[in-house]
Amino acid sequence: MTAVQSSAEDRGGELALRPRRRTLLGRPSLLVIYVPVVVAAHLGMTVAGLLDTPFRTGDVTTFAALLACAAVCIEATRRLGMPAGVARDLLSAWWLPVALLLPPVYALLIPIPVQALLQFRVRRTLVYRRALVAAAHGIAGACASMVFHLVVPEPLESASQWIVQAYPGIPAAVGCAALFTVVNTAIVAVAAHAASPESRWRDVLWTRENLLLDVVELCVGILVAITCALSLGLLILALPPLMLLQRSLMHQQLQAAARTDAKTGLLNAAAWQMEADTELSRAQRTHDAVALLLIDIDHFKRVNDTHGHLMGDQVLVGVASTLCHQLRDYDVVGRFGGEEFVVLLPGADTVEACRVAERLRGRVRRLAVPTEEGTVTVTVSVGVALFRTHGQDLLELLAAADLALYRAKSSGRDRVCLPAVDGPKPTDP
Ligand code: GH3
Ligand code: MG
Ligand code: MG
Repeated sequence: MTAVQSSAEDRGGELALRPRRRTLLGRPSLLVIYVPVVVAAHLGMTVAGLLDTPFRTGDVTTFAALLACAAVCIEATRRLGMPAGVARDLLSAWWLPVALLLPPVYALLIPIPVQALLQFRVRRTLVYRRALVAAAHGIAGACASMVFHLVVPEPLESASQWIVQAYPGIPAAVGCAALFTVVNTAIVAVAAHAASPESRWRDVLWTRENLLLDVVELCVGILVAITCALSLGLLILALPPLMLLQRSLMHQQLQAAARTDAKTGLLNAAAWQMEADTELSRAQRTHDAVALLLIDIDHFKRVNDTHGHLMGDQVLVGVASTLCHQLRDYDVVGRFGGEEFVVLLPGADTVEACRVAERLRGRVRRLAVPTEEGTVTVTVSVGVALFRTHGQDLLELLAAADLALYRAKSSGRDRVCLPAVDGPKPTDP
């Protein structure tokens, strides 16, 4: 699975393909056109490939062996559990050999049973999302396969011999594996961006962590391809280390998921509190300024009452995403509860904190979440509190920000307030 697939599957909430709807209807129009086009292209290429490719028993046996290995890994994943927020796996290690060693049609075919198994055995997700991911893998695998078979000589059976040679088999395999990742990433990134146009291309294309995992998958996939080319029986030796690798990857993701609010992808309250505590201890030592913002959506209950709870969730995702995009990497942002967000701004004094709070308020005001009847807009009230001025530790700071938020609500909402009336005057809307 590649970087953007994980965004398609789940990643971070702030990213795109995370609708709460069960169907494509009602999604942004570009997505409604894009997904069927990609899926139809995949199916068309598969049918054409099946009609065009001669049947060889050896190819089918290799395909079946690699598919069986992928199925065993999926079953192992199932036993571990794969909750929302855990999206990366090492299944490419099995279908990259399919792309490199077999005719392209097999690369088009393998994502279909693999995604069906994931859907029915591991975690049910939106069917169109699965179909898009399968199509992206299929098309990307077929591209890699076609290029690899252009580089290795005909007849095709000699691909196995070529890949075990250092040159040109290995560089060609590395290049084609990279091509697979790029094409797959591009296909899913377009969908992710269409679903959430406010998301940044950089975020939907890659993160450092996902890039690292892509490189690991690429290396493991090529090693499995070489093993498979030497002897199909050796796959039995490759299976246990791969399952162990997959297990440790899952464990790492489960730990990350435990820190994350599944709905918005922000830190959850406990994780935010731990990070904020660490930041305050550091500021205590270095005598740096720190500010805290408590942000609450105004009249959010009305959004739920008017447009339904699912639309309310979309608004929460939109607000979370807006906050993330407006803040620096080292600001600590979390979802504190229902429709309440909390931000720690290291290094910010009163003026800077109010400036940031005003910018966030303004950006949320401009956020328009699309619905079937039009768009939903919301405003936020923000309470600002300063470390040392309004509180000596996190609890005091939170209490002060809560008081400031209460002032913002009681003086009309859609505004930024400090706890004390005599503090620097924040701007009214
Ligand atoms: P105020 O301006 O005073 O903050 O009014 P409000 O309506 O925003 O605040 P109130 O506390 O009355 O209502 C908050 C609502 O947020 C009620 C609750 O159903 C809703 N809510 C809490 N968590 C979620 C969630 O995860 N999803 C959705 N859709 N709604 C949620
Ligand atoms: Mg509210
Ligand atoms: Mg509230």
